[in-house]
Amino acid sequence: EGVDTVIAGRPNVGKSTLMNLLAGCDRSIVTSYAGTTRDVVEDTILLAGIPLRLADTAGLHDTEDPVEQIGVLRSRGRVEAAQLILAVFDSSEPLQDEDRQFVELIGGTPAVAVINKNDLENKIDILYIQSKFKHIVYISALQGSGLQQLTAAVRQVL
Ligand code: GDP
Ligand code: MG
Repeated sequence: EGVDTVIAGRPNVGKSTLMNLLAGCDRSIVTSYAGTTRDVVEDTILLAGIPLRLADTAGLHDTEDPVEQIGVLRSRGRVEAAQLILAVFDSSEPLQDEDRQFVELIGGTPAVAVINKNDLENKIDILYIQSKFKHIVYISALQGSGLQQLTAAVRQVL
């Protein structure tokens, strides 16, 4: 039961922090090291009454680490099979090739661009995001802000 929802993006943008915020507990490990989340972490939640089967995934990037490679393959598979994608970006850094490669994976699946780390100085190329996503929300997963906008956007895309 619930909408198959994948939290995806390149490493270190705050996917697992968002997962924990939405799950309301320390479901995923969060560190400042890229490659912390290796396997898919799942939880079913209610987002303002909407049941979501959330999957927090390994950051999409090229890696030499054989365990991480399997995690990245699984992430890609989840993104391809998702009913809803929460596409997470780091607002405090310029867009990277890994962000753009991830965006190209999304295709026609309903998606919300989640611009995270809104508590920091904004450096992201928002014009690119605007050209690719109809629904864009700004949040700070760390501070727990922006959840109302995220909920509203999820309601709209479903
Ligand atoms: P993931 O690799 O995408 O799962 O990213 P994590 O959730 O593990 O977070 C990576 C780093 O970014 C950690 O040091 C987090 O504390 C930090 N982080 C996550 N969300 C935010 C945020 O909204 N604001 C700030 N300033 N830092 C954040
Ligand atoms: Mg993670």
